[in-house]
Amino acid sequence: MWRIVRPDSVDVWNDELVRTRLSRYYGILKGVFLPKFKIAKLVPVEVSLDSPENELWSEHRKASRDFGTLLSDLDGGKINLREVAVPSSISFLDLKIELAKRITQSCHLCERRCNVNRLKGEKGFCRLGKDSFVSTFFLHMGEESVLVPSGTIFFTGCNFGPCVFCQNADISSDPDNGQIVTPILLSKMVTSLKREGARNANWVGGSPTPNLHNILESMKHIEVDICQLWNSNFYMSNESTELLLDVIDFWLPDMKWFNDKCAFKYSRIPNYWNVVSRNHLVTHNRGGGEMIVRHLLVPGHIECCTKPVLEWISNNIPKALVNVMDQYRPSYLVSSNRDYADINRRPSQEEIEIAYKYADELGLLWKPIS
Ligand code: SF4
Repeated sequence: MWRIVRPDSVDVWNDELVRTRLSRYYGILKGVFLPKFKIAKLVPVEVSLDSPENELWSEHRKASRDFGTLLSDLDGGKINLREVAVPSSISFLDLKIELAKRITQSCHLCERRCNVNRLKGEKGFCRLGKDSFVSTFFLHMGEESVLVPSGTIFFTGCNFGPCVFCQNADISSDPDNGQIVTPILLSKMVTSLKREGARNANWVGGSPTPNLHNILESMKHIEVDICQLWNSNFYMSNESTELLLDVIDFWLPDMKWFNDKCAFKYSRIPNYWNVVSRNHLVTHNRGGGEMIVRHLLVPGHIECCTKPVLEWISNNIPKALVNVMDQYRPSYLVSSNRDYADINRRPSQEEIEIAYKYADELGLLWKPIS
């Protein structure tokens, strides 16, 4: 059915460059490779989960190396999955789940680092306690060609302002605007989406980052082989990014702003560039690098943001595909607040053409997925 709605979701795989850059993701779709979270369940760790946090992190570093070896042996056909014993006690994934809980007790899941104890119901900037809320989940046919149909799960709440033009403001600015979900319920959502034909479990919001503890725990209960996709503003803390490496197969970050002044004015987020560029580099260099960077063309921000962002991607994360997005519409606060009058319009055709031309000049791979 989706082949009729989105023929490009099939045709895109005829592009050799796309297949090469996304070779592991493609292999997961074809059943050749295992999703990473399934491999993380197979790596044993030798530490008690009651141990002090520094010992858990030390074991995490060791387990990450073991994970890398196992992944390479399985992908390369050096060993067969049937030869790998399931850990009798604690796995790498269990360790990640415990570390995420520890982080949530003095919350630094994202770089706002509110340090509140969310497990005891305290709330920081995102106004989420220990529970996660899902507003909706469905097979999304509007995502990039390589992703659809995408098993999209929308969490409420956001660690950004939210952005003054947010199109999901009803859920990002209202954390309670959804249904409470347990990790088991999340795993059931993923399983049913996979059975309906989803190519991936697309964790999004709002922002998935404040929900990382519940997302990781849900993976413990997911039995189906499905690619895990992180669709986020990329404002994760260092620690959260470490937990995500080795379970996320596909990265779908936003890179909106090049300078912090724009980021603070329109997304109400401090220290944007340092955090977001750092996380792009880490996931590109250590997280497999199979990613589509989404860059939204904001009117009037072609010179200060679009051009330098595209240039940075080309120079620093060359494996990334880029979605140069021209669908910006004034919404949420922009249409009613005079402070944002400068972006109360759609990008002009001239701005869009300048951005496309610049992406071409830089040699970015953007057309098949924009
Ligand atoms: S997820 Fe981020 S915004 Fe939310 S409480 Fe934790 S550190 Fe604060």
